[in-house]
Amino acid sequence: MNGFAVDDRDRLSPVEDGQLYIDGKWRESASGKRMDTVDPTTEAVITSVAKGDGDDVNAAIAAARRCTDEDDWSRMPAPDRHGLMITVADIIERHADEFARCETLDMGKPVQFARSIDAVLLADLFRFFGSLAADPEGAARYVSPPPDYATRPVMSVREPVGVVAAITPFNFPLLLAASKIAPAMATGNAVVHKPASSTPLSAIRLAMAFEEAGVPKGVYNLVTGPGAEIGDALVESPDVDKIAFTGSTGVGKGIIAKSADTVKKVTMELGGKSAHIIFADADMDVAIQNAIFGIFYNKGEICTAGSRLLVERKALDTVLDALVQAVSDLIIGDPLHHDTFLGPMADKGQLEKVESYVKAGREAGADLRYGGERVQPDGLGGKGWFHQPTIFLGRNDMAIAQEEIFGPVLTVIPFEDEADAIRIANDTAFGLASGVQTSDMAKALRVASALKAGTCWINSYNYFDVSVPFGGVKQSGFGRECGREALENYTQMKSIWLPVMTGAQT
Ligand code: NAP
Repeated sequence: MNGFAVDDRDRLSPVEDGQLYIDGKWRESASGKRMDTVDPTTEAVITSVAKGDGDDVNAAIAAARRCTDEDDWSRMPAPDRHGLMITVADIIERHADEFARCETLDMGKPVQFARSIDAVLLADLFRFFGSLAADPEGAARYVSPPPDYATRPVMSVREPVGVVAAITPFNFPLLLAASKIAPAMATGNAVVHKPASSTPLSAIRLAMAFEEAGVPKGVYNLVTGPGAEIGDALVESPDVDKIAFTGSTGVGKGIIAKSADTVKKVTMELGGKSAHIIFADADMDVAIQNAIFGIFYNKGEICTAGSRLLVERKALDTVLDALVQAVSDLIIGDPLHHDTFLGPMADKGQLEKVESYVKAGREAGADLRYGGERVQPDGLGGKGWFHQPTIFLGRNDMAIAQEEIFGPVLTVIPFEDEADAIRIANDTAFGLASGVQTSDMAKALRVASALKAGTCWINSYNYFDVSVPFGGVKQSGFGRECGREALENYTQMKSIWLPVMTGAQT
């Protein structure tokens, strides 16, 4: 949609002067401190939010604990819980533009994707898990007393785990929060949520939606503030039963180690360095489109980024030429413009990280085929943390191919044959996602089953659906989000052995 003009009203945040949301009430942090959140497009402060600390975390945990242990929340009848979650989804849909704008302002996600993907999947998550809340196979449930059996009956019930700490990253702030909160709510848990410090706005907007929907107090508690302090308080508390974490592998390892003291249930959605394989027999137009979307969608700030593009050697020149042509057509600019494909890096640190890897790639002898520099799109007064989409021809043993850059940097790596492609693809510490482009479906399925990754896309890339389980292997983590399988993360079975019953006892 060319010609869409961004005016000052588009830059107004749907959330201003954000507070903590604890036990159904908005409040300042115990210390009274606040922190700014910054628009990476303009480098200007959007607004400030409460800067919580350990005292606030303890208040949030206490509210969640009471909610699960004493209130009726975990015993809410399934139809009522289902109805509540559908109400949340309806409210999200009504305010989808606001949710999208929070993401775009806070982390530079182009609004065309924030509105058509993030805001839509957000509502889907509450609809999908809301429907499972009404399904006795999947959800926590309370059942009628057993019938009159002559033999000893056992009743196995699926119960909520209790208090869930959701710790979420900056790149899909809404979706990666809701992919924890929705299944946790569907199964009768209470949540303490800590969003990334650089992207607190959409979590505050989500809390407003819960308030509007009438979600009982204490079910969702939001504490914004610095990662280590709030994270430690959550991870070390004996009153938190489960940690649902999405973020970097380094922080995830620390949480796993610290959670051992209180033997918490944890799920880890961590980093990636996904291999995307193009065979020479692929439909090249489709393959190039998928390769571009695979790495440059969300500015490469996506855990599944197809950041290692493995290309069959006989198609290498064709693929490189086509990639360079396609990437030069991408529109970089203000993410509030509806035709922008690439916005700024989410914060200055991310931009500097990308630059340091580009430098490392050059120094290691990788062949820079496109980009490699910061860029200042027109109309922004020289502001904004933008980086060109960047393409290297390199080797799999280089840091740019082994370490997660989390930016718009693609390393193209040639391979000789199917076995070589599989060997290179699996030669990584990570195992989150993968892709295969080929017209030979038997080969595609052979390769997909040989790849050590939680997801493999054949002739597509970066597709998501709330009903499809998602997660990693190796150092990309464990546990699955989305799909019915996610309910396992938030429930546990209890077996209750009943006495022998006679007709007189019923
Ligand atoms: P991050 O630095 O690991 O931060 C993630 C969250 O953890 C933030 O809320 C952060 O708070 C918090 N945190 C920081 N230190 C902590 C500590 N010591 N204890 C507990 N929590 C702590 O990750 P990020 O930079 O936001 O996100 C990018 C990473 O997430 C990438 O590695 C990416 O691959 C990964 N990711 C994985 C998936 C997946 O599904 N596998 C999806 C998306 C992203 P602060 O912001 O306040 O520091």
